[in-house]
Order: sequence, then C-alpha cells, then structure tokens
Amino acid sequence: MSKFLHTKFSSLKPYDTSGEIESMNGYIRLNTNESPFPPSPKAIEYAHKASESQNYYPDPECTQLAGRLAEMYSLKPTQIVFGNGSDEILNFLFAGFCENGAAFPNITYSFYKILAEFHCVDFITVPLKDFRVDPSSYTAMKGRTIFIANPNAPTGIALSLNDIETVITSNPQSLIVIDEAYVDFGGESAVCLISKYDNLIITRTFSKSRSLAGARLGFCMTNENIAQDIRNIKNTITPYNINAMTQAAGLGALDDEEYTHKNIAAIRRVRDETRARLQEMGFTVLESSTNFLFAKHESLSGEKIFNALKERRIMIRHFTNPPEISDFNRITIGTSEEMKIFLEAVREIINEN
Ligand code: PMP
Repeated sequence: MSKFLHTKFSSLKPYDTSGEIESMNGYIRLNTNESPFPPSPKAIEYAHKASESQNYYPDPECTQLAGRLAEMYSLKPTQIVFGNGSDEILNFLFAGFCENGAAFPNITYSFYKILAEFHCVDFITVPLKDFRVDPSSYTAMKGRTIFIANPNAPTGIALSLNDIETVITSNPQSLIVIDEAYVDFGGESAVCLISKYDNLIITRTFSKSRSLAGARLGFCMTNENIAQDIRNIKNTITPYNINAMTQAAGLGALDDEEYTHKNIAAIRRVRDETRARLQEMGFTVLESSTNFLFAKHESLSGEKIFNALKERRIMIRHFTNPPEISDFNRITIGTSEEMKIFLEAVREIINEN
C-alpha cells in the first residue's frame, strides 16, 4: 500500500479474478459462466460499424437500446438504466440504495458482499435451506435492501415467481433487487411485477445468453422514479459508461433473437446431458436453471477435482467459502465438444483415484 492511498481503503477485499486471467492461456474455460458461443454476427457487424465513429462520445442514455428493451418488456424507455455489465448496476445500488443496510443469501454471488463492504453497508446474510433460497426467511428485514439472484449462483436453483412475490409482499419497506443474470436459461422473470410493486428492481446482463461478456453490458428495469435515481448516480460518476461499440453490439444481439434462442437451447440440452453423466459417476448435482452446474463427488474432494482438471488444462470454479460448499465445484456449460473432453477427464480422474 502506498502512502497516498486513503486509509479507508487499507483493507480492500477485491473480487478474485486470478482464475479468469489464468484460463485465458489455452484452457477450456468452464470457470466464468460465459457463453461458449461467439456473439451474433449482427452484434459483431454493428460493433465494427460503430467503431468508425469513436471520435464522438457515446449516447449516455443508450437511447436505441432502451427503446428496444422497453418494447420487449412492455415498459417505458425511462424505466431502464444501463451499466458497464450488471456489476456496475449492482455497484450503483449498493452505493445509493442501502441506507438501512442490505440482506442477501449466505451462498450467492460473491460480489454482493464485496460491494457491501466497499460501500460500508451494514449487511446480513440469510442461510439457504437445502441449497435453496427460502422466501419465508426474508421477514423482519427492517427496510434492508434485499438482493436475490434468481436463479441463484453458484447453486443454479431458481425460485418461482410466487416465491419472489412473497419476498416482495413480506417486505414493503424494503427495496427488492432481483438479479436475473441467468434467467434466460430456465428461470421465471419477475419483470411482470414491476408495474404491481413500487419497490422492485430487476437486473439483467448481456454477458450470458447473449454472448457479450467482453463487451460489458448490463441493465436494470424498475419504476420511473427509482430509475431516475439510479440514472442520477450513474450520470454523477460515469455518464458515458457504455461505449459506442458495446451499445451497437447490444442492438445487434437484440436484432438476432433467433441466434440467442438457438444457443440457449443448445446450452440447456448439453447442461442436462452433462448433469446426467456426472450423476452416473457419483456426483451430487444440484438441479440447474442456469448455464452452469454445481456438483460434488461422493468420494473425491472439490479441490482435488479442481486441481486434477487444471493439470489437464480445463478450468472450473472451486469455492473454499463458506465451508459447506468447499466440496462443490461450479462448472460452466461449454460446447458439447468441450463437455465431452471435460467428462472424459473427470472419468479419468475418478479411475486414477
Ligand atoms: N449477477 C450474477 C449472479 C453473476 O453471476 C454475474 C456474473 N459474474 C453478474 C451478476 C455480473 O455479470 P455482468 O457484470 O457480466 O453483467
């Protein structure tokens, strides 16, 4: 730490990206829940065209994208705000909407805790029950902002729309943030509840089903009032947060819904097939509504499997915390060819042990 850094940052705990950087060196990347499929040719074409006008600042409101998404979800464009990935939206929300604290599951997207600590938000974690988010545990939240990933990560399990509605109606004093990063792979979206409740924000990303993780494009949908508050925060700290090529790529992806749907279907098919094969090899695999599986072997430790796969240049995600998930690994669904290589490697590792 240099002597110039503000002392409030002396014990920062950043998000761990080491495995992600490592896996860029010729590994089969099953560790970051990206899409194994390239962006739609339209996304590439539009981004390329947009790159010719980089001398100008991008549209700070992402007007065209907002218009398209508003049409898709029957909202007004003013109900949508964009982020440099949905991570940036989450950053705005922890920065500006957690005066009464935050609450989120004890096993969920690790960034919630990191952001809560960064913004000095008082937070509680709510235990899962049988690896599921339990809506009845979300009572007496005392106005805390509640963050729920639905489907949850890294478990992959989704809550029903009814369950989400239970959390909302049990907490009228709280803002409820539903992180739908993985919803396209099998979850039920709560977008239809935005017009019914004034305390709901849905976050979404183009990083997963739309193959644009590298472009960094996320957004949130809520009522106009809250959207304007989020926009004010964004325009205060980062008004041009979505670059022109990314806006264009996002439009290209939306112009090619057929491509997205085809990829989602392929990922779901390979996911279910991979789950069945892993179960045959002695794994407990949680049911998944996402593009990843969360799996634990009956006799080999999570760490052992992670390391043995890494030696074979296959990267999956191993968690050490909390201890009850340390024997689980999270496996992103790749192409069917990649998953064949993965399954063959797992078979070998089991036989060797
Ligand atoms: N929410 C969840 C649950 C995630 O797993 C991720 C991806 N790591 C994100 C949000 C953030 O995605 P992005 O910033 O790429 O939109």
